[in-house]
Amino acid sequence: MSLDDLKKHLVDICHCASERWLTAGSGGNISVRIPETTRYLCTATGVTFRDTAVENIVEMDLDGRQLSPGPWKPSKEHRWHAGILALRPEVHGVVHTHSTATMAFGIVDMTPPHMTGQARAHLGRIQIVPYADAGSDELRDLIVGVYEAHPDTRIVLLANHGLAATGPSLLEAYNRAEIVEDSAQAYLHCKILGREPKLDF
Ligand SMILES: [Zn+2]
Repeated sequence: MSLDDLKKHLVDICHCASERWLTAGSGGNISVRIPETTRYLCTATGVTFRDTAVENIVEMDLDGRQLSPGPWKPSKEHRWHAGILALRPEVHGVVHTHSTATMAFGIVDMTPPHMTGQARAHLGRIQIVPYADAGSDELRDLIVGVYEAHPDTRIVLLANHGLAATGPSLLEAYNRAEIVEDSAQAYLHCKILGREPKLDF
């Protein structure tokens, strides 16, 4: 895939995230590794997923340097995106969203159970990190620390904030972000029905 095609793919994924209401306002950010390089593309700070376009995608290297010119700056969460991409070479996509049901679990310090065979197959063991301010060294260290301690991590809940989903491709990382939100919503809907979800399937 050419660099231009990779940018278009990133834009398409951002638009999917917007249509699925996986974040609010300009929250959330998404990165994709440029294959066989130490560089990656990420969304710009202050730009909503809906308004993300090829022109405002930012190119970065894994040491935190911005390579693309122009007025757009990387999302302030770029340091933990780069930290995961540097630590886990098999990870190609990082998706950070603020989807509501998943956030609710992080807020009560609980991970959503796997509600479906799809969730079981795609999500692995979900981790939680305590609250730290967006863009802080502390948050970067907490999230990257999870990937150091548990290299097979796919989903991390960020308490009182949102979630990180990673995958061997950007599409798989995005799908995991959708699936964890669906699983979280299904759990909450079971509670609304007044029944305990049946999880021994
Ligand atoms: Zn965020």
